Amino acid sequence: MSAARLVADLGRRGIRLGLTADGIRYEAPIGALTTSDRKAIGTHRAALMDLLRAANGTTAPSSPCQLCGGVLGFVEDWPSAGDKGWLCAACPARPAPTLAEVFASLSDAERTRFRGEVVAGDRLAERVAEALGETCPLGVIAAQGKKAS
Ligand SMILES: [Zn+2]
Repeated sequence: MSAARLVADLGRRGIRLGLTADGIRYEAPIGALTTSDRKAIGTHRAALMDLLRAANGTTAPSSPCQLCGGVLGFVEDWPSAGDKGWLCAACPARPAPTLAEVFASLSDAERTRFRGEVVAGDRLAERVAEALGETCPLGVIAAQGKKAS
């Protein structure tokens, strides 16, 4: 049986396949997926993943993860339901730094540039400074500027 026929056969029985970061997931009515189905999915794993990518209108990027160099997989419903894209399995699991942590990591030159953007009225810089609040002196400046205007 070809991968395409397997997908069609599973589909007729209400079994839907999808891609995860590291393989294939399925949604099936309770008891619908048999041991033989699992074995067939394993046998055709690579071809099924190619089909699912094609169905998503995507092809695997030729480069690895730009952050860590890891292998990319197509992920659906991450970070929010309905979102999808190519991610490595490692990066989404890492904790994201807070704005205060990012601000604390800035060099003197970067802080000077950021301050210049806030003073010049750059809206994004102002929003970041406001979000930093008391952890950043510029947050107080941005908030005062807002009250004054
Ligand atoms: Zn990565």
